[in-house]
Amino acid sequence: MAKHPVPKKKTSKARSSRRHSKFVQKEQKYLKDLVHLTKCPNCGAPKLMHHVCKECGKYKGRQVFDMNKKIEKITKIKA
Ligand SMILES: [Zn+2]
Repeated sequence: MAKHPVPKKKTSKARSSRRHSKFVQKEQKYLKDLVHLTKCPNCGAPKLMHHVCKECGKYKGRQVFDMNKKIEKITKIKA
């Protein structure tokens, strides 16, 4: 006989998948509640609360960064 606690029955595929689906549902809701999206008053694009709008570069009606300047993606590291 085993000296440590041992499950009496094997957990069925349906039971474990049901448990997993509930876990996923809960986590998704938690992550959704963490991110607060609002509409940008200038362009109407969805943006993060208390953050600069990525579409027009404005925050509280003030131009924070110039959108005409294109920022090139860093693909190589120059050493
Ligand atoms: Zn905007």
